[in-house]
Amino acid sequence: MEIIGKIVIPGERLSTEEEFATSDNTFIEEGSIYSSSTGKVDVKGGKISVISPKGARPFKKGMLVLGKITDDLRSVLFVKIENQDKDNISYKALKNGKIINKHSMETDKPFEIGDIILARIIDEDKNIYELNTYEPECGVVYSKCHTCNIPLSHDKDYNVLYCDICHARKHKKISTLYNDMKAIEEKLLNDKPEEHERHRRFNRAEEGHGRQGRYDRHDSGRQYHRNTRYRD
Ligand SMILES: [Zn+2]
Repeated sequence: MEIIGKIVIPGERLSTEEEFATSDNTFIEEGSIYSSSTGKVDVKGGKISVISPKGARPFKKGMLVLGKITDDLRSVLFVKIENQDKDNISYKALKNGKIINKHSMETDKPFEIGDIILARIIDEDKNIYELNTYEPECGVVYSKCHTCNIPLSHDKDYNVLYCDICHARKHKKISTLYNDMKAIEEKLLNDKPEEHERHRRFNRAEEGHGRQGRYDRHDSGRQYHRNTRYRD
């Protein structure tokens, strides 16, 4: 079979769902099987998998990730997390992410389906990563107008996204790195998850007195930034 041994990248279509069962580093979408990783395709016992090069490992708590909003439920947003290379290691998203308490954010609709966001993994269980986007650099980094299908521009004065064609305006949780792919890449590469974890523990310790809000209720990215700054 010609697919065996082929080198593939994340998101590459491998076969139909009828041909094989999925196995390592693959996922099904609308009847097709895709690779979720870079690696070599293998087929064994009717199962198709992608074998990652050495050094591949799952994302860990505290890391920054890029992802795409795939579902928008009443209080939860679901995020498909992109794989990422950092320090010669391929990090793989073995599960999806979720953002909870979205209504506690600055805007009622912080993100929409299809938005690409930068977010931090703050927790995980065996099924899902929990993400948040409170830091200034976190939030939507790329978004399209759903009517005109062109990328939205960032009006920095009013901190809104707008469409050059239909002039729709969107109040979202916008990353300070919106549409700056080079800066986003640098941020992902240079981010230090360990340092972030330290801040987080510190802030959490202060939370116990009925003010559950520092991270969850009315904290804007700006406030977060200020808080962490002064604690350095
Ligand atoms: Zn438009």
